[in-house]
Amino acid sequence: MFSEELEKISWEETTERIYSKTDADVIRALGKDKCDTDDFMALISPAAGKFLEPMAELSRKYTMERFGKTISLFIPLYLTNSCTNSCVYCGFHISNPMARTILTYEEIENEYKAIKKLGPFENLLLVTGENPAKAGVPYIAKALDLAKPYFSNLKIEVMPLTTDDYLELKKHGLNGVICFQETYNRDRYRIYHPRGMKSRFEWRVDGFDRMGQAGVHSIGLGVLIGLEEWRTDVTMMAIHLRYLQKHYWKTKYSVNFPRMRPAENEGFVPNVIMNDRELAQATFAMRIFDHDVDISYSTREPANIRDHMATLGVTTMSAESKTDPGGYCTYPHSLEQFHVSDDRTASEIEKVLKSLGREPVWKDWDVSFDLMTR
Ligand code: SF4
Repeated sequence: MFSEELEKISWEETTERIYSKTDADVIRALGKDKCDTDDFMALISPAAGKFLEPMAELSRKYTMERFGKTISLFIPLYLTNSCTNSCVYCGFHISNPMARTILTYEEIENEYKAIKKLGPFENLLLVTGENPAKAGVPYIAKALDLAKPYFSNLKIEVMPLTTDDYLELKKHGLNGVICFQETYNRDRYRIYHPRGMKSRFEWRVDGFDRMGQAGVHSIGLGVLIGLEEWRTDVTMMAIHLRYLQKHYWKTKYSVNFPRMRPAENEGFVPNVIMNDRELAQATFAMRIFDHDVDISYSTREPANIRDHMATLGVTTMSAESKTDPGGYCTYPHSLEQFHVSDDRTASEIEKVLKSLGREPVWKDWDVSFDLMTR
């Protein structure tokens, strides 16, 4: 399990190693076909800041070689804002006295129909707060069943589950799971996640092993930028990615590193800021480190940055996202988990991507593709 590997890696020493990288380390990393995690530390280091142009060129080249011009589009559907956790940076935390909704099955189907009117989406991400008693595995399974006639690629972003739960959900059409570790800083993690299941760092970080053991087709890792030193968190995610690829090599991987946006509990102020150049650096570093990993940007990022990065390394994007349950038709004005930054419609995004020479893809995977390659 990855938590055992993580025990051997010191957060402080990793941070020191990143900050001690020199121009020579960056140049060496840029000259390699296959970078290791030490090279990644060089690429994410402050020293690499002045190498942004060659990094962008390399990132563009590798992205074109592996993905062509395609950008895969997906849409999230929040099924519930009911949550038993108390993440201090999230508007859905248990102590926030806000109206809670768990969509009924009828409402869920209405949302699917409303989404299909926005664009020919085939990639759907079902999102829940963490309330296993009221919106647990049977509820998610039913939502997947209902989604199958409308969408061909079904992913979830819910509480970490057991291996058996993932196996069960695969029977209901589950293709992929996204989970945010938020931060790999074990000590500080407790401060941000004081109560509920999410306070169990090991259970969360080992959830990715359980997904791999269950043979989930696609696994998405994520850190939330704004909590801890972002260079260290993204490096830890790169180390985690390598570990998972070694152990579960049939799986496809994606990475996310969204920057924190204001939530309903406006009180939380990000501890660290990643500026636009640094976001670009992290994206290029990840692409140079791993030519095949899907790099995903959500609508948390502004439109101009998403458009620009769509030609330089990003391969997957959400579009026209509502971050409140039932936001597409049932409850269009309820509380959001966070405010989106890119609020363009799906067809506006498609048009812009095409004008930039990209090929927006609404459907990037189907269970039949796997059957054909067996
Ligand atoms: S981040 Fe997720 S788990 Fe934490 S309070 Fe918000 S909805 Fe719940």
